[in-house]
Amino acid sequence: MNDLAERDRAVVWHPFTQMQTAPLPVPIVRGEGSVLYGADGREYLDMISSWWVNLHGHAHPHIAQRLSEQLNTLEHVIFAGFTHQPAVELAERLLAILPPNQAKVFYSDNGSTAVEVALKMAFQYWHNLGQPRRKVVALENAYHGDTFGAMAVGGRSAFSAPFAPFLFDVDFLPAPVAGQEQAVLEQAKELFSDDVAAFIVEPLVQGSGGMIMYEPETLDALFSLARQYGVLIIADEVMTGFGRTGKLFASDYLREKADLMCLSKGLTGGTMALGVTTCTQAIYDAFLSTDKLRTLFHGHSFTANPLACAAALASMDLLLLDETQVAIRRIAQKNSTFAQRLATYSTVGNIRQRGTLLAFDLMVGEETSYFNTIRDVAYDFLTARGVLMRPLGNVLYLMPPYCTTDEQLDYTYQQIIDLLQTI
Ligand SMILES: *Cc1c(COP(=O)(O)O)cnc(C)c1O
Repeated sequence: MNDLAERDRAVVWHPFTQMQTAPLPVPIVRGEGSVLYGADGREYLDMISSWWVNLHGHAHPHIAQRLSEQLNTLEHVIFAGFTHQPAVELAERLLAILPPNQAKVFYSDNGSTAVEVALKMAFQYWHNLGQPRRKVVALENAYHGDTFGAMAVGGRSAFSAPFAPFLFDVDFLPAPVAGQEQAVLEQAKELFSDDVAAFIVEPLVQGSGGMIMYEPETLDALFSLARQYGVLIIADEVMTGFGRTGKLFASDYLREKADLMCLSKGLTGGTMALGVTTCTQAIYDAFLSTDKLRTLFHGHSFTANPLACAAALASMDLLLLDETQVAIRRIAQKNSTFAQRLATYSTVGNIRQRGTLLAFDLMVGEETSYFNTIRDVAYDFLTARGVLMRPLGNVLYLMPPYCTTDEQLDYTYQQIIDLLQTI
């Protein structure tokens, strides 16, 4: 079966991968619950939910059932001028669980496009009102996706360096992490003005930036400041949505609610690509007109794909079950007990947790960066022991599917402890 890896190398270009030096990819033949099965018979505990998308485990029978029914009914239909049951029902059910100020659902097909749509809605909102605003405020180290608009509002890094000249100007605030709250608020007072169209954040947890966490009170204060100038607030919940932070949405921790929200990743339980941008009635209304030029001219071929919507509905059935909510609390509780154990290691620093998300820094090597070699040591060590984690530089984190058992978590914790005793 190494054959498949060789064939892959001959024809495939992988994401975020230096193809010259990367080892051959691992062929996976099957998934069940939190376990991925390799072609060579090895098993991997998927402790990062396959790039943060999986909520209920792999090949979940309920999602598979709903999806196969939909596949035999309607696989796709153009979404301009036409609609279908899964899209309407999903919008209704999403709005029922999102903050009450969210009024309309716009579909696309991934997290980056959900962000692009939110930015375009925000810019065109001001344009349609006849009061164009040019500026955007975002947080340093933010990640909002890899398309150009999403990259522009992301923290500037080695990843975006080749494209820097092509990204629109954005003003960045540092993340208001512990100890920095006051300084960031002071800086925000300088930045927000009535020329700012939008303020975009990953609420409470900046994922790709290194699982940087901060408190709801500070974000509420930032949102209030932005509001004084009418700035539209965009909550990018592509990663934090659907229970990861312990509540259904990170926004549920906040008093101030965003005007626009972006969802993807866990939306379909990790089964299909789907993106959603939601907005308030006021934003939607700014596009209503007999003048066609006020239309939001944006769409994708696979907008509101019925299969993806059916998967999202099935995933939501599972997410809202009592047993899933209990599992989320159980994982959070176990992680917090493990965090106390981690605190006794001198090679572990900056332990942080929000709901099911647990992250900490490995305090070895000269500096903290994505390219830190401790990353490779940790990745190889854990993978060899059948635990799939993908450190962000020297930041190790856990983002398990909610079906992960206590036994699987304990096994994972033990491998992490062994790693700490090795490095
Ligand atoms: C992953 C991610 C995105 C981009 O989503 P894709 O589906 O990978 O394009 C956007 N925002 C956040 C917060 C993310 O974590």
